This record gives sequence, C-alpha cells and structure tokens, in this order.
Amino acid sequence: MISNYRKRIALERIEILFNEAKRAMKLKKPELAKRYIELARKIGMRCNVKIPSQYKTKFCKKCNVYLIPSKNCKIKLDSKKHLIKITCLECGNIKIFRYKK
Ligand SMILES: [Zn+2]
Repeated sequence: MISNYRKRIALERIEILFNEAKRAMKLKKPELAKRYIELARKIGMRCNVKIPSQYKTKFCKKCNVYLIPSKNCKIKLDSKKHLIKITCLECGNIKIFRYKK
C-alpha cells in the first residue's frame, strides 16, 4: 500500500519534471524534455499517481515528446462534440480529450 505522503511527493516530482521539460524545450533540447516526461510517467506508474490533467495535453503518450502547439503538434477542436484532437507530429499519434463547456 502506498501512503498518501508518498503519493504527494510523487505528484510534486511529476510537477517539477514537467516544468523542467518545458524549460528544456525552451532551450531547444527536446531529447532532454522527453527524458523528463518518461521519468515523470514512470514515477506516476510506480506510485499509482495519475498525471495531473493540466499536463495530460502536454506530452505524447506514444513517444513521450513534449507537445508545443503549432510546433510539434496539431490541435483541432470539435466544438459540437466538445472534443480536442491533438496530433503528435513526431510520431503521428492522436490523442482525443473531452472538454467541458
Ligand atoms: Zn508522438
């Protein structure tokens, strides 16, 4: 059983790693960003912590790339169905999210 304390620490680490990934992208180091995301996801899996929703749209589940709209991903909105379709331009993987009105 994983304690809430450990989960909280894991969540903090995930947040830090995503911030680092963002910074790495700014420094034009996408490979580094990828490694931070891989690590964040591993921590999440090991500690049974979900990736916070604000980060879910920021990486590709398939190739772990940090997604930046109009740079390495395409975003399409379907306002009728309230869906966001994000296409990773690195590997072509498509993620679909539901958003609230
Ligand atoms: Zn991808």
